[in-house]
Amino acid sequence: MNGGISYWYADDGLPAVREPLGGDRSADVVIVGGGYTGLWTAYYLKKAAPDLRITVLEQRFCGYGASGRNGGWLYNGIAGRDRYAALHGHEAAVRLQRAMNDTVAEVVRALAEEGVDADVHVGGVLEVARTPAQLARLKDFHAHELAYGETDRELYGARETAERLRITGAVGSTWTPHGARVHPVKLVKGLAAAVEALGVEVYESTPVTEIHAGRAVTPYGTVRAPYVLRCTEGFTAALKGERRTWLPMNSSMIATEPLTDEQWAAVGWAGREALGDMAHAYMYAQRTADGRIALGGRGVPYRFGSRTDHDGRTQPETVEALREILVAFFPALAGVRIAHAWSGVLGVPRDWCATVTLDRASGLGWAGGYVGSGVATTNLAGRTLRDLVLLDFGRGGNTDLTVLPWVGHKVRRWEPEPLRWLGVQGMYATYRTADRRETQTHSAGSSRLARLADRVAGRH
Ligand SMILES: Cc1cc2nc3c(=O)[nH]c(=O)nc-3n(C[C@H](O)[C@H](O)[C@H](O)COP(=O)(O)OP(=O)(O)OC[C@H]3O[C@@H](n4cnc5c(N)ncnc54)[C@H](O)[C@@H]3O)c2cc1C
Repeated sequence: MNGGISYWYADDGLPAVREPLGGDRSADVVIVGGGYTGLWTAYYLKKAAPDLRITVLEQRFCGYGASGRNGGWLYNGIAGRDRYAALHGHEAAVRLQRAMNDTVAEVVRALAEEGVDADVHVGGVLEVARTPAQLARLKDFHAHELAYGETDRELYGARETAERLRITGAVGSTWTPHGARVHPVKLVKGLAAAVEALGVEVYESTPVTEIHAGRAVTPYGTVRAPYVLRCTEGFTAALKGERRTWLPMNSSMIATEPLTDEQWAAVGWAGREALGDMAHAYMYAQRTADGRIALGGRGVPYRFGSRTDHDGRTQPETVEALREILVAFFPALAGVRIAHAWSGVLGVPRDWCATVTLDRASGLGWAGGYVGSGVATTNLAGRTLRDLVLLDFGRGGNTDLTVLPWVGHKVRRWEPEPLRWLGVQGMYATYRTADRRETQTHSAGSSRLARLADRVAGRH
């Protein structure tokens, strides 16, 4: 199966789609987009102020986007932390990191409170190195994270890594407890149901075509509200006036058939950690609750003109590239069948920094640009948008969240085509070449090519 939104929907079933908007309405807050960002925002706002009339408008169904397709790494990474340290000081970035550590625990807590069973397993995150250059980067990364107050992060050698997972060529790894594996679709479906049960109006099959101060326009009517929050991540470029705001970057995944007991014995992975590596074009994976490996990576990174995908279909060459990574890691799985492949889009700002903003003059707000780290960050964004709206409403003051350094961050737009397409294709081609060179040469230095690609892309 290729597409069908994602394996997670094949496993848990596509949802019954809610009614579309049936004409003009008014609300206190209108949220555009029913992914984790929009839903967590609605959830926390309605809990804090049950009298607020909150409307969610979703173009297809809640969880249609990345929130229903991701790798299920609920972890404490946030895009842009180092840049925020450079802009606002180290201490501000440490506060952001601590907030992210707490966010992983908050998601687990909120799901338990709402009775949402999303196959959560809190096994932390293990990132492995398979070449000398990756090992050097891993050690730097480990030291770097300790400097942001992650004192509970561990560094493992080859033997300790193999005790957890038997990955061919693994020479070391780093593990943090601030991570969990989740089933993305069970999470988004449960969250949407919780939001609706609180009294939030959720309209599906309702694309918003334009956002203006005080209103969101759809083909079926306009919702007027003093606050309009854009939570559209990788789809943002399709909105009028937002073409160059966030670049829609593809990520693709495969899921194997369930492994046999012998295959699991060869692989290990008893701790069910979220698994990643230190390649420039990195991979991410999880051991699913139903005994499969779901593994993702970049594939074809970007479609010309910011086009998004077709219900999750991905290119055959991407499926093969991901299968090769799986087999390179676990040669015992050479014969395993790939049951499902799919892709989704994430939002990439020009400076690769996630942000959350409420413009108090217009009442327009947005959160996103999470790059590949949104499963937890969306929750922090939702709680922050709650606090920003309540602050503006005069129902609350500044909080620990409203003063975090990612709040109100502004970034320039992406270049017009064809520069945008050429830049992203060039960047990932360079990463792949750098990875190949590092594997072939066994040099401990990171390829200069990759550093150059980072600089051109605006990542560092
Ligand atoms: C394949 C893949 C793997 C990933 N793996 C991980 C991972 O393991 N860990 C991690 O932390 N992050 C991961 N991510 C990123 C993470 O999934 C996202 O950052 C997160 O889900 C973003 O949530 P969101 O609600 O902001 O966006 P989305 O989930 O994309 O939601 C946006 C919603 O808005 C709707 N929408 C868009 N435009 C309109 C419009 N005009 N009108 C109405 N509705 C609209 C869309 O239909 C969609 O439902 C992955 C992403 C992908 C694609």
